[in-house]
Amino acid sequence: MPTYIVLLGPPGAGKGTQAKVLAEKFNLPHISSGDIFRENIKNGTELGKLANTYISQGELVPDDVTIAMIRERFSRSDCVNGAILDGFPRTPAQADALCEMLKEFDGRVNLVPFITAPVEVLIERLAGRWTCRTCGRVYHERFNPPKQHGICDADGGDLYQREDDKAETVVHRIEVYQKQTAPLIDYYKERGVLAEINGFAPIEEVSAQLMAAMKH
Ligand code: ADP
Ligand code: ADP
Repeated sequence: MPTYIVLLGPPGAGKGTQAKVLAEKFNLPHISSGDIFRENIKNGTELGKLANTYISQGELVPDDVTIAMIRERFSRSDCVNGAILDGFPRTPAQADALCEMLKEFDGRVNLVPFITAPVEVLIERLAGRWTCRTCGRVYHERFNPPKQHGICDADGGDLYQREDDKAETVVHRIEVYQKQTAPLIDYYKERGVLAEINGFAPIEEVSAQLMAAMKH
């Protein structure tokens, strides 16, 4: 049976950080909708141009565009055994679409770790987040610094600060999360797959909570 894990939580909760850990541990692809959008923006594709008009404002990219992009990603053969989803779904309509997509693989969403931390912590994390331009791996200037300033430990790629991580946009993104994405907490709770994870703990402790949730 394939294993599909959806990491749910506000911007800055630690989804990307933990997705990398889980993907490595379980040898599953890490599918980050934000990374795919940023890749398209970097390459100047039509999808990238459209997505950027929303991303730069801290708004969600429309459901139809996002769902089509993820559907395309799922058409690749590496997803048949499962995947770690990070940043998708972000709305109930996306969650319904995901459920339909997974039926094609005889799969379903097996577990939804819901990672949270207080708002002040999220803001502090995003303000100090540095992202690798090539692999999307994230660092924090204080909480998780790279070995060498400005350079990714994993692939030597150059680290940058995301435009949408500036303070004004971050506050709006957290509001957007509350309005549009937080309903997914009950959505997945009702389906019996939600696992609450305290994200306000050191990275290794959050990983340990996730590993415990995976065993249930
Ligand atoms: P998300 O994908 O949910 O937006 P990230 O994984 O990108 O979150 O993490 C946001 C920032 O916080 C990054 O700079 C990351 O290094 C840092 N971070 C992630 N988890 C923790 C943690 N448990 N403690 C401290 N900093 C963290
Ligand atoms: P974070 O890691 O801080 O939560 P992401 O990298 O996941 O941020 O997403 C960055 C931006 O990309 C979002 O603010 C939104 O504009 C867009 N985006 C990412 N995933 C989705 C999605 N599933 N639906 C709509 N927009 C999305």
